[in-house]
Amino acid sequence: MDEKYIVGVDIGGTWVRVAICTADLNEKNIKKRIIKTLKETKYSISNSICQILSELLSENSIEQDQILGIAIATAGPLNMDKGEVFNNANLGFRVIPLKQPIKEKFPGIPIYFINDCNGSVLGIHFFEAEDDEKDNLVYISMSTGLGGGVICSGHLLLGKEGNAAEIGHAKVEPKSKFKCNCGAYGCWEAYSSGTGVKNRAFDALNEGKLNADILMQIVNNNKKSITAKEIFQAAKRGDELSKKIVEDCVYYTKVGVGLVNNYYDCTSIYFGGAMIKDKEQIIPSIIEQFEKDPIKFTINHPPKIKLTRYQEEIGLRGALALVKYKTDKNKIIF
Ligand SMILES: [Zn+2]
Repeated sequence: MDEKYIVGVDIGGTWVRVAICTADLNEKNIKKRIIKTLKETKYSISNSICQILSELLSENSIEQDQILGIAIATAGPLNMDKGEVFNNANLGFRVIPLKQPIKEKFPGIPIYFINDCNGSVLGIHFFEAEDDEKDNLVYISMSTGLGGGVICSGHLLLGKEGNAAEIGHAKVEPKSKFKCNCGAYGCWEAYSSGTGVKNRAFDALNEGKLNADILMQIVNNNKKSITAKEIFQAAKRGDELSKKIVEDCVYYTKVGVGLVNNYYDCTSIYFGGAMIKDKEQIIPSIIEQFEKDPIKFTINHPPKIKLTRYQEEIGLRGALALVKYKTDKNKIIF
């Protein structure tokens, strides 16, 4: 009998990742490719996925009928049934159709869709989590935005269109004057995402109350080149303004983790995303808070705080896991 394969795709604002693996998801057999996210037309992304997938198949002498399924994890908002992304600020079009164009090129193969953070928690579940934490598991991505995926009582939470657990838009500061990308004020994402950290630093610079000499020195006085990375770097070197921004990022992450734990009563929370490159300025303080003094932030027993070891690859692994769980009819998604 011919060997069967699983295809996973992860679409982000900057990169598209495509992988193919044997149906057992033995990580030694993952073959992957990464390309820039093309934004010329609303079909650029689906075209590039089809092209890379065709290449991966021919390079590895795999026929289309050996593929059990294709799962696509993407930044949302998502219409899971239609296979479309809508209103995504980073991908550039009001609606990006994915399912139809890919189905035309690969007919007869089941295609599944999942929001990237919901996918990532499946990746953690399959590749990384301990047995005793699998049933109540949360993933939090701190990146350009802030998102989450939740497995609660052994079920992946999806919602009506696949956009459950949009935890980045939890209101962590009700009287905030800071507007989030979503249009609301005081969202967790507005304080603790890469975009949030950058915007808060600009606000504070404009206000001019805190000293930012070290930060400005790091960017050669060119305000435009400030990103979260330089702010964390400056904070480490004692920059007054940057320290305040990083403190807020961490504080509101504690508020957010507390809310998540109140809602989902999780055993473990895994962190990932680009911001976690500065993990030593974020994670230890959160671990300490929830180990020593959780009650300020959550009434439930506190979760273990961990980091995913797969970093930017966790979404892609989640897509692979989704096909496996669909094929196996795993109760986690049924
Ligand atoms: Zn928001």
